[in-house]
Amino acid sequence: MSRVTVVRAACPHDCPDTCAMRVTVEDGVAVRVQGDPDHPTTRGALCTKVSRYTERTYHPERVLRPLKRSGPKGSGRFTPVGWDEALADIAARLREITGRDPEAILPYSYAGTMGLLQGESMDRRFFHRLGASRLDRTICASAGAEALTATYGSRIGMHLEHFAESRLILIWGSNAIASHLHFWTLAQAAKRQGARLLCIDPRRTETADKCHQHIALLPGTDGALALGMIHELIVHDWLDHDYIERHTEGWPLLRERALAWPPERAAAVCGLQAEEVRGLARDYATTRPAAIRLNYGMQRVRGGGNAVRLIAILPCLVGAWRHRAGGLLLSSSGWFSKDTAALQRPDLLAGRQPRTLNMSTVGDDLLREASPGFGPRVEALVVYNSSPVAVAPESPKVVRGFRREDLFTVVLEHFMTDTADHADYVLPATTQLEHLDVHTSYGHTYALINEPAIAPLGEARPNTQIFRDLAARMGYREACFRDTDEDLARQAFARDVDFDTLRAQGWVRLPLPEAPLADGGFPTPSGRCLIDSPGLGVPDHLPNHESVLSTPELARRYPLAMISPPARNFLNSTFVNVKSLRDIEGEPLLEMHEADAAARGIQDGQPVRVYNARGEYHCTARVGRARPGVVHGLGVWWRKLGPRGTNVNELTHQQLTDIGRAPAFYDCLVEVQPA
Ligand code: SF4
Repeated sequence: MSRVTVVRAACPHDCPDTCAMRVTVEDGVAVRVQGDPDHPTTRGALCTKVSRYTERTYHPERVLRPLKRSGPKGSGRFTPVGWDEALADIAARLREITGRDPEAILPYSYAGTMGLLQGESMDRRFFHRLGASRLDRTICASAGAEALTATYGSRIGMHLEHFAESRLILIWGSNAIASHLHFWTLAQAAKRQGARLLCIDPRRTETADKCHQHIALLPGTDGALALGMIHELIVHDWLDHDYIERHTEGWPLLRERALAWPPERAAAVCGLQAEEVRGLARDYATTRPAAIRLNYGMQRVRGGGNAVRLIAILPCLVGAWRHRAGGLLLSSSGWFSKDTAALQRPDLLAGRQPRTLNMSTVGDDLLREASPGFGPRVEALVVYNSSPVAVAPESPKVVRGFRREDLFTVVLEHFMTDTADHADYVLPATTQLEHLDVHTSYGHTYALINEPAIAPLGEARPNTQIFRDLAARMGYREACFRDTDEDLARQAFARDVDFDTLRAQGWVRLPLPEAPLADGGFPTPSGRCLIDSPGLGVPDHLPNHESVLSTPELARRYPLAMISPPARNFLNSTFVNVKSLRDIEGEPLLEMHEADAAARGIQDGQPVRVYNARGEYHCTARVGRARPGVVHGLGVWWRKLGPRGTNVNELTHQQLTDIGRAPAFYDCLVEVQPA
């Protein structure tokens, strides 16, 4: 008789929903992954991508043995080797470089798993002990995260569940149906109770289709729209003076600035009608409770941080926080009390202060020579939980960097990604079903556990184990390198989450008030929302690095603004190699407005060449979902799975955002022609 067990797990992917999962295991084989019906926000449902997680775990192309490069860089030719040989050789190479300068070694990781153990524990200890360059992990959310922290004091917001009671929801910069499914379920519940849903997004997404109204502003103009709204709140006296007086700091300065943004001015910048700005402000000011679900797409432009600050101030101006179903949610991650010092052990730096390199400018940094300002040339890269060759901006430079024959590259991976193809060693890592982890969330307020459901496949090892093994090979004797994964899990939270309770229940809800900012209490030094923030001042609209208005000369050559939102069935570059999901997506697409397509003689379904001074990208035109003047390069395809081995990041640039040093992926001019 077969033995069947059901194991509690958590989705590891970079998604605000952080679902609780149940994994059914028959005779040691995971046969089903389902949403946990008892978890209050998962409610039994997973998205299409992760409900096929077993297909990913048992994928015939999983890397299950260490591989050593046997062809030229980037050729993808490798020979299987034993763990002992791989670890000994890697440690020897790292030791040799460390002897010259440990800062010549760069770790590169992001949110391939959001787990605290497999993403930010033993790895960080290892690189701290080594004295390697530090990595500024900016590639997705740091503009918005730092902007929110500068305004509220932390990355905090509403409880996800309370959106079901809102009467008005602004879904701002989020295709919730594709990338925040469980919020969408709650928004639908609110809609059934009579709530109005408004979508603010350049793209007519599946979510926009199902909202009452879609405000299709130009990319990078969200701050101008917020200023136009604030203008209307002032002139109609739709302000909550008591909340502003008691719980904010700096309002008179913003009041003066916003008075220079009548709806006509905001509309001209945003590419909207003035009546759309007026109507939006009126709806927002006169409906209670009103909630904003802001998401990270809109902050991937030069002024993304300022725009987040302006939008985050709106609920303070109208007192929306007074109700538990009012306010804003961009991130809830600041509510969790991670014990970062215990997990990552920065004390292992022992007083050293290695340089910090920005992951978003890896293209430039890999090509830099040593200099007094930069420090040593990057001689070694250790990549895990990320695929920079596919996802980092301006990939022509990233690829050139990864192809340097003198660069020693180690990649911890599940598959032969575009990045793994450029490695000297590929080390097989476990998937979420094969290791222990604990999770916070940036979209809800529950900590979760992920128990290993099955034994590691082949010779795969958890990231924690790989860095433990490397530490041993490097001769590191500190006791912290002998901590087991359970030891790490017990160290992960400073308060509120007890590991034994987490293990027994599967998740722990943070002990927060229902309406946490109803009476102010922002985690800033004054307890107030900082409209005027030290070092940043009062937020303003900043035009894009590249746009028709800010760079008219450039726009004559490349007149279309391109954003690159995720294709519905991929999550960044994860899942692109899961055939059933790739079959749904079909092929890399560029969405265009019919007038822009017609002006270029482009038909729906035709191959096109998208280009600018940085590079060119070949894909298929899809006429629809775009407003005039804007195109959408849906991402992030693996380069080698797209036509001519390129993807949309061939066109993006490495200029950074105003706050948070993040890439401005959605701030990019291009031109398109039939291929
Ligand atoms: S990707 Fe998001 S919606 Fe899908 S299972 Fe994971 S957390 Fe849930």
